[in-house]
Amino acid sequence: MASKRISIKQQHMKVNTMKVNATFETSSIDSTAVEEKLFGQVEEDEDSDDGPVVFICAKCKLPVGDSMSWDGSEDGQNQIRLKRVTDNVLVGKENRLCEVSKSSLCLILDVFCRGCHSVLGMVYASTPKNLDHKRSAFCFNVADIDSYVLGSASQTLAAEGPKEQPVTLEYRGIVEQQLTEMKMLVLSMAQRLEEIEAGLQEGCDDV
Ligand SMILES: [Zn+2]
Repeated sequence: MASKRISIKQQHMKVNTMKVNATFETSSIDSTAVEEKLFGQVEEDEDSDDGPVVFICAKCKLPVGDSMSWDGSEDGQNQIRLKRVTDNVLVGKENRLCEVSKSSLCLILDVFCRGCHSVLGMVYASTPKNLDHKRSAFCFNVADIDSYVLGSASQTLAAEGPKEQPVTLEYRGIVEQQLTEMKMLVLSMAQRLEEIEAGLQEGCDDV
């Protein structure tokens, strides 16, 4: 019986460690996790513990939007679509023709970053009827944006960090001064002790 119980417990532990590993894998921000998010496996990811994602300009890191306004992704074009974006995103004024796929020509406007003026993606100004849904969203090139997963910050201060004082010459001088003072104090106390002991000895001798 006992051995059976142990083996069940071991199995239980195995399952637990597997769970822990899985959590580590999903919560660590490696590029694959971000890529999965960007390349549209979002249905699967929605149930995971990953926090919302903030999308930022790859060049100057200004926030351009977040996953709360996620509208989907275009695998073929390496683009993600967001329904709402921040004021850091500027829409250009010049239409240009773009062949999205064979036999679907669209009019598009470039989308810029307000901070560094890089082109981040585009919006559709005019589309064939079958692509109408795309006109209501901002399309970002995956290559031109970065992302930050909320809660993924990992830097902390070391336990003794903020109070630790750098050893400057001045600080060293103070420490040396204090050491000298303590040495003097110890010496004078030893001397005083000697005198007291001598006095006691004399007192004993007198009796
Ligand atoms: Zn920028």
